[in-house]
Amino acid sequence: MELTTLGVFRRYEELRERLPQMPAEPMTRPVGSLLDLVSEIDVFLFDAFGVLVVGDTPIPGTVEALDALKRVGKSICILTNAATKEPQAQFAKYAGLGFPIAAGEVVSSRSIAVAAAERFPHVRNWAAILPAAAGIADLPDGIVTQASNARSFWEAGGYLFLSSKGWTPALQQRLVKRLKARPAPVLVGNPDLVAPREYGLSIEAGFFAHDLLDSVEADIRFLGKPYANAFNAAIQAANTLGIPIDRSRVAMVGDTLHTDILGGAAAGLRTVLVTDHGVLKGTDAEGLMRQSGIRPDWITRSI
Ligand SMILES: [Mg+2]
Repeated sequence: MELTTLGVFRRYEELRERLPQMPAEPMTRPVGSLLDLVSEIDVFLFDAFGVLVVGDTPIPGTVEALDALKRVGKSICILTNAATKEPQAQFAKYAGLGFPIAAGEVVSSRSIAVAAAERFPHVRNWAAILPAAAGIADLPDGIVTQASNARSFWEAGGYLFLSSKGWTPALQQRLVKRLKARPAPVLVGNPDLVAPREYGLSIEAGFFAHDLLDSVEADIRFLGKPYANAFNAAIQAANTLGIPIDRSRVAMVGDTLHTDILGGAAAGLRTVLVTDHGVLKGTDAEGLMRQSGIRPDWITRSI
């Protein structure tokens, strides 16, 4: 895969059979900002990378945009596929950058993956694919990582693939070999192929997970966007009053066609594509929408 927007787009297109189905394409309407949508939308779900931040840097005006939505009584939730950091650290990151969010308003695919591990009661010894410095307090007891205990890592009963940081082609080859020799479930806590960083695009866990699927017949499950499990978790988090939420009044705001927009639409939500700060920056967004058949309800340069 070429590490450019177009290279990543092509890889996602190759993988379409593994992604949710796009329902009927809506007519895309341009909007100046999310405030134009307040009569139609009650709950805004925000992708983080490429919408609110680039890496660890907030995109100018986004803190103010969330403040303005909160002031007019809208619910907001950050729905991110970032899984390297513990949930508490992810909340601290966005609160620390000034975003007006409460602890329950950040939903990360990491939490969804950790919850999914509970559905494998026969797996006692999980291993996490995580860099040595990452926090593990939220992970199953006794968890090991590739750096902390290599021997237990390769003998684990199941794998939580949470981060590509420190994961190498050599380690990937070894995992393929291990899964061929002795199958084990792999729960992928970040289905994304890449993420926009200050310096360009970084390869993410989803890239390696799809490579695993190409290489070995294994029980590999994706937790996070574009899969329904992510949107269900975010809607549950937003629904703190227990009143059922009308999905046609929930908008997923994101920068990636194959994760935020496809996933949001497949989950029955409305969708807003942000073009100026994430993976579509400087590309022919209209051309990519036409080619993929993935189209948002609304399109905006910035929120
Ligand atoms: Mg993004």
